[in-house]
Amino acid sequence: MGFKIGCIPGDGIGPEIVREARKVLDAVGKKYGHEFEFTEIDMGGCSIDKYGVPLTDEAIEKAKASDAVLMGSIGGNTSTSPWYKLPPEKRPEAGLLKIRKSLGLFANLRPSYLYEELKDACPLRAEVAEAGFDMLIMRELTGGLYFGERYTKEVDGVMTAVDTLSYNENEIRRIAVKAFEIAGKRRKKVISIDKANVLDSSRLWRKVVNEVAENYPDIELEHMLVDNAAMQLVKNPAQFDVVLTENMFGDILSDEAAEISGSIGMLSSASLNETKFGLYEPSGGSAPDIAGKNIANPIATILSAAMMLRFTFDLDKEADAIENAVREVLKAGIRTGDIMSDGCRRVSTSEMGDEIVNRI
Ligand code: NAD
Repeated sequence: MGFKIGCIPGDGIGPEIVREARKVLDAVGKKYGHEFEFTEIDMGGCSIDKYGVPLTDEAIEKAKASDAVLMGSIGGNTSTSPWYKLPPEKRPEAGLLKIRKSLGLFANLRPSYLYEELKDACPLRAEVAEAGFDMLIMRELTGGLYFGERYTKEVDGVMTAVDTLSYNENEIRRIAVKAFEIAGKRRKKVISIDKANVLDSSRLWRKVVNEVAENYPDIELEHMLVDNAAMQLVKNPAQFDVVLTENMFGDILSDEAAEISGSIGMLSSASLNETKFGLYEPSGGSAPDIAGKNIANPIATILSAAMMLRFTFDLDKEADAIENAVREVLKAGIRTGDIMSDGCRRVSTSEMGDEIVNRI
């Protein structure tokens, strides 16, 4: 079968890690008889340098014409790069917000998985790490506090800042449906996070999630307050399968879940809209400190490509092949610098890509 993939290498380590993911997709295509056709799209700092804006309308059209988009990362050193002297709407990150909005990407998925071979890198107590964990944070991406009305003004002589947290039932329902559907492909458990003891938006969240749950009788649902969730993530992460949450809670909890898994270079992510379309990218940034040195870990991007095969193209067998190849590479003691430990063999970005290709 043929699939059209929009490809955004971006800035920093972006081009290096995307190159390896494309290599792996080509190997999967060859083995399983698929054709992946790639169209390059400029976004971020590289687009500012060429066109003066982080994302052109033409780039958005190219993304919309694709079946899915695979991205590296965008942005530079926020203290030294001239991109950060521009007004906020012209900076690299504005491109990311614009593409998410233009493509209607409202559901952000971030898996956090502790590999047996990387348990030493887990900052949790040994017995907690020993139990392992395998969770998927499903974060609402286009509503809530980050998109509500905001202003700063003087009220009765006192400077006052206001941010508004608003959700309507449709926004909650569509992400809850995604969470239950994906839980059906996993261990069939959804833990929904809110602050229903205080916030109206959370009480509506809980009500709508309960309604959606009625259509999925085989999926177990539990509600958890966000402060408790922050504790449970470090105390007993094994209890989580799909974690469903609104935008700001998800922003914070997904970084906590990333940290306990040991390395940012291992964590994939996906942002989905109401159709099968998705934008797939590693959870980390453009890592300007190691860019251009061929030492970045490409595994997060390669695993993001596996998510693309699973969630957009419904190619589960092919996605399994990539995930198994990554596991075998780790078992063989092959490591990039960020996940290096005693007795392992250190490889470059491109060598890691080759090792994974060899195991497809
Ligand atoms: P970062 O994730 O780029 O880097 C944090 C640390 O993790 C660095 O030490 C880096 O070397 C390391 N790291 C990250 N990815 C790695 C990989 N694949 N292999 C090995 N080590 C890796 O975060 P930052 O330094 O806060 O941000 C740098 C730039 O990235 C900023 O401009 C920021 O805005 C941007 N950013 C972009 C995205 C995105 O494109 N979605 C996400 C986050 C940050």
